[in-house]
Amino acid sequence: MNTLPASDHGPDILPHRAVTGQGAVPRELLSIVIPCHNEEEVIESTHDRLVAALPATDMDFEIIYIDDGSRDGTLARLEAIAARDCRATVIELSRNFGQQAAMSAGLARARGAAVVIIDADLQDPPEVIPEMVECWRGGADVAYGRRRSREGETWFKLVTASCFHRLFASLVPYPVPVDTGDFKLLDRAVVDAVCRLPEKRRYLRSLVAWSGFRQQPVWYDRHARSAGETKYSTRKLIRLAIDAVMLSSDTPLRAAWWAAGLLGVVGSCCAVLSCILPAGNGSLVAAIAAVVSLAGAIQTTAVAIVGEYVVRTYREVQSRPSWIVKKTIEGTAGNQCARPDHHESRAA
Ligand code: UDP
Ligand code: MG
Repeated sequence: MNTLPASDHGPDILPHRAVTGQGAVPRELLSIVIPCHNEEEVIESTHDRLVAALPATDMDFEIIYIDDGSRDGTLARLEAIAARDCRATVIELSRNFGQQAAMSAGLARARGAAVVIIDADLQDPPEVIPEMVECWRGGADVAYGRRRSREGETWFKLVTASCFHRLFASLVPYPVPVDTGDFKLLDRAVVDAVCRLPEKRRYLRSLVAWSGFRQQPVWYDRHARSAGETKYSTRKLIRLAIDAVMLSSDTPLRAAWWAAGLLGVVGSCCAVLSCILPAGNGSLVAAIAAVVSLAGAIQTTAVAIVGEYVVRTYREVQSRPSWIVKKTIEGTAGNQCARPDHHESRAA
């Protein structure tokens, strides 16, 4: 058996885990990507906890901090960390672009054979990373942290987050794990696949799920924030949730078909009623309701048809590849199916 890239099949994205030699990614380098926005109170302890936990992975590591337009002393502290620890890299964004952009900037910079994304606030314990690495060594391409429990969150956040995760998973046309955040390990192949996606507005959780590959949970207990405050107000969370759905699902636009269908059924029932009711006020009301509903159904159908074109245009503009090749296996046994040797046939 022979494992070869399928380079003639369009937009391939190939795994790199087994790649060695010139131009290959370092084999045993683990990259840690940490988006930071106003995290001065916690960032030093985060670095110390990471540096203490990561040797258990038996890998070299680099820690990439992305300062996402912090207005407090985060950047100064990160610079001090980088000055005393050559494994730390600091990327300073020119302003606050948001966590999704910060994580993407970190992924683009990461060089590791595997990359872990983790928040700066120690809610996700760095001590879980060696378990993720074990899971990756066991064959998983994505080892995602799945929360067994969540300390320090309001019941409102727990309930809304749980409902949103389930609603989101039901709206997108590919499997998305529930009760997970951004704390996960990605194989180099997954990082490359996600980084190559040309879309600018990104919701990484769904991009990673969309990319496919072998995804496995690593269960853990999520702690309360160790210091500082959440950067997500309810308004910001709602905006993120809307973004997540719009970027990943066509269902909201397609809801117009359901509305059109419903109006059509109501209009038809009213039309029948207006015919069978004895002449009078009742039949007049049913007739008016039938005309209004059926006219509404026609208009909503027109909106739904426009929506279909919008969906297709949007997905084309998003420009995601139509498929991702993980690997191609070509049979090599026996002469009867031997492929023509290109060098020989050219020389002949
Ligand atoms: N973050 C960021 N840019 C932002 C908001 C947040 O880089 O605009 C970072 C933040 O510093 C943290 C992570 O994203 O490392 C998650 O943020 P937070 O802990 O506030 O979210 P929560 O855990 O409350 O959902
Ligand atoms: Mg947090």
